Amino acid sequence: MSSETAPSTPRRVTIVGGGFSGVSAAVQLVRHSPVPLAITLIESRDRVGPGLAYATHDPDHRLNAPTWAHAVDPVDGEHFTHWCQARGVFEADPEAMQPSGSAFVRRAVFGAYLEYMVHSHASGAATGSTIRTLQDRALHATQVGDTVNTVTERGQTLTADLLLLATGNAEPRLQAPLDPALAQHPGVIENPLVTARLLGIPRDARVLIIGSGLTSLDVVSTLQRQGHTGGITVVSRRGLRPRAQPQASGPVEPPVGRQNLDRLLAPAPAFLTGVQPELRTWVRTLRAQIRASVARGETWNLPFDELRDSVWQLWPTLPAAQQRRFLRVLRPWYDVHRFRSPPQTEAINREALATGRVVHIAARLRSLAAPSHAHRIEALLQPAGGGTPITDSFDVVVNCTGLDATARTAGNPLLKALVDQGTLRADACGIGYAVDPHCRVINAQGEALSRIRLIGPPTLGTFGDPGGAMFIAAQIHRMLPDVLRFLGERAPLPGLADQAASLSAA
Ligand SMILES: Cc1cc2nc3c(=O)[nH]c(=O)nc-3n(C[C@H](O)[C@H](O)[C@H](O)COP(=O)(O)OP(=O)(O)OC[C@H]3O[C@@H](n4cnc5c(N)ncnc54)[C@H](O)[C@@H]3O)c2cc1C
Repeated sequence: MSSETAPSTPRRVTIVGGGFSGVSAAVQLVRHSPVPLAITLIESRDRVGPGLAYATHDPDHRLNAPTWAHAVDPVDGEHFTHWCQARGVFEADPEAMQPSGSAFVRRAVFGAYLEYMVHSHASGAATGSTIRTLQDRALHATQVGDTVNTVTERGQTLTADLLLLATGNAEPRLQAPLDPALAQHPGVIENPLVTARLLGIPRDARVLIIGSGLTSLDVVSTLQRQGHTGGITVVSRRGLRPRAQPQASGPVEPPVGRQNLDRLLAPAPAFLTGVQPELRTWVRTLRAQIRASVARGETWNLPFDELRDSVWQLWPTLPAAQQRRFLRVLRPWYDVHRFRSPPQTEAINREALATGRVVHIAARLRSLAAPSHAHRIEALLQPAGGGTPITDSFDVVVNCTGLDATARTAGNPLLKALVDQGTLRADACGIGYAVDPHCRVINAQGEALSRIRLIGPPTLGTFGDPGGAMFIAAQIHRMLPDVLRFLGERAPLPGLADQAASLSAA
């Protein structure tokens, strides 16, 4: 870049949210921006990096995919694996490494890695780019001319050329029809991601876990390790459990460099693009592919993963009514195949099932009550498929229900302010906020705002599936050329330029 085109002062970027999304964005910006950036990363928690997902300190809560699927910068796909090797993570935790050669490490390790990545990129970049962290909560933001002002709880106003919203997942909370006031009951654990609450469950307590996804498997793992004797009931509407991550019995070459990213950027598979964008047709086609794969002696997940990896391209082609239908009808089925249990968690949970310490029931939880005269919490369950409702009582109830679309805005003052002032608007499915292919937020008037971008889980309704780390990192990678161009860069990175052009054309 010539000195005429280079900005004389660093471009200012404010990032709200210091979980995986915010960290990945900051690191990718520092690594790939040819012009200096002064990035401020605002995070309300006491640590930048772990976010909601990797803040657990329970040793049995593991990443649900191998280390190579957890790259902060997807062009450098082995970085986390090498970091673990250099720090002796695999020696300290011999259960992490699987016969396939892929490692499923503790989530706390990934949280520490993310923290390290922020600090190691905070200064010293050749371009002069920096990352400053600020422990504070962003309350509102407004675009003023060519800048965006973000105001925090502690009264700071940060002026920037670009605001990146990386506010992540909503904190788990009790969902209807349960009374929100029950969250105050000492026996009700509304947020199972607070490890200390799980560790405090008495060994002999009768435990009800609401929801049977990956978080419920984590709760069972904690209880098992603590020698729980009181009995554990897991209730979910369909009684479905997450599939296990398929494991090869011998070594398999892990993806290297940017191979994983290239797979995620590849065109969607012909078996899906060659048919009508219609749910029923996709399901039929996918099932046929899975049957053919299994008949060839391959695992079921290969065609499924082809779908998963290209959901960001396929989902926007589905009519909104079909997207909403997917969320209503097919999502539980998709999720149990999509969010798979890591081998160690699977083993613990299988043992708990086999010994009868855990029982799964398919039923709808109609109500929970904590009568003042009783110590226990009473649950009214309607078995799936009808029949007489069951009443049972428990000492502890753990809320492991999944996605709660309404919690997002309600729990986050910044998002609420942005919605109220018309800067953000709900996506067509009502589970997040509308953005364009460059992650520019779409305001209430339908305009895409180049200065305000949104990444990660709140874009679920637009892209279909940016839930996991590797998908978020790829989403940021796809957004980067447009962001860099917007920030004044005239010579995008080789390889990023073509992508930017094709996204613009989309
Ligand atoms: C329990 C759990 C386990 C998971 N495990 C895996 C896994 O093993 N592998 C995988 O690939 N994916 C996993 N995921 C998916 C996960 O969504 C992504 O991998 C990723 O961590 C999402 O990161 P995020 O930064 O967008 O969100 P979050 O982790 O939710 O972080 C968002 C951060 O933003 C902060 N924030 C929000 N609003 C403000 C504000 N106004 N001001 C200041 N700070 C704010 C929050 O405090 C939070 O720290 C898991 C998700 C959960 C919930």
